[in-house]
Amino acid sequence: MQDALPLEIADLELDSQALHELEPGIWRVPAPVPFGARVVNLYLLGAPVAAAQGSQGWCLVDCPLDTPPAEAALRDALDRIGASPASISAIILTHVHPDHLGAAGRWQRLSGAPVYMLAAEKRDMAPLWGDAANTAFLDVARVCVTHGMPADEAQALVTRAVQLRRLLDLPDHPTLLAHGQRIHLAGAAYRALWTPGHADGHLCLLRDDGVLVAGDAVLPALRPTVGWYPWSRPDPLADQLASLAALGDLPVRLVLPGHGRPFTDLRGRASVLAGSYAREIVTVARLLAEAPDGLTAYALAQALYPERMRNPGSRLVALAESVAFLAHLRILSRAERQTGADGVITYHRGDEGALVSGAVASGTSGSDEPSPTSQGVWPQD
Ligand SMILES: [Zn+2]
Ligand SMILES: [Zn+2]
Repeated sequence: MQDALPLEIADLELDSQALHELEPGIWRVPAPVPFGARVVNLYLLGAPVAAAQGSQGWCLVDCPLDTPPAEAALRDALDRIGASPASISAIILTHVHPDHLGAAGRWQRLSGAPVYMLAAEKRDMAPLWGDAANTAFLDVARVCVTHGMPADEAQALVTRAVQLRRLLDLPDHPTLLAHGQRIHLAGAAYRALWTPGHADGHLCLLRDDGVLVAGDAVLPALRPTVGWYPWSRPDPLADQLASLAALGDLPVRLVLPGHGRPFTDLRGRASVLAGSYAREIVTVARLLAEAPDGLTAYALAQALYPERMRNPGSRLVALAESVAFLAHLRILSRAERQTGADGVITYHRGDEGALVSGAVASGTSGSDEPSPTSQGVWPQD
């Protein structure tokens, strides 16, 4: 249950929180988040040609939480560019982590604009944040306990998630995009890119002139967390590596990330991040080898992410990321999983095998979506 709770990016450098026009028709709108990264980047994207900006409205990328300061950030931005909520002609949701989903339903009603997202992400939206969410939170808490989390910590996660849910407003009937689909939004042409890893249904959008709406798939200052849910794709880490490899090959001149400063060197950043995940895979394998009695995912998270595990707001995400690494090693036959009589799952060192991260194609799931690597490259047109 990646990012069901906040603080996916605990130590983000808070550079400028001011509204900023990156280039004509591209506005970065930092919006406050009362947890975790503390700021999420929304974007208002108009037509690439100055003369046409605003004439077909604005595309809003991700939505502010249902809090007065977050709403004010977006309203102030609209005022500044001489627009109004009704000027928003399209809303994009890169993924449904709470800092990005926000009050999408409210902005859908205010603007009358369609909300676009990938089908795989819509799948997670209602179970996580809809009317049945409180039951889902309890289920996730039970899963956390089976991965070694003390019961009182798991209960605290549920309390926190229930509070967080009050800051969200789900959109009605979002319009579902498919991987590779071309779409015109607010006077510009884009291609939808399915980029699983941080979230199963994570969406990036590539504008025809080389601007990438990146969400949390690739971030400039920190490594995106690898998302894992009890029902997620089997190897989110392999997905993330495949997504980074595919993104790095795109003709991108400007990256618009969900957190941190926009940047230009996508290939370089994707390579750095891939190296970081690869080193961590080796670390996890070593920790397993050094634990004759095996490790729970919770114990592994404490070893890998002591800071995050000390913070109740980031504990769930850290645990989920640990499970993702262990799942990856299991698929590589480098880890084995055992369930004890008490129901607690421990992981043990598996057979010796080639420890090649990313060699496991992510096409092992039953998802309807194609894997970024199963096609070699994404479709070109
Ligand atoms: Zn996220
Ligand atoms: Zn985020």
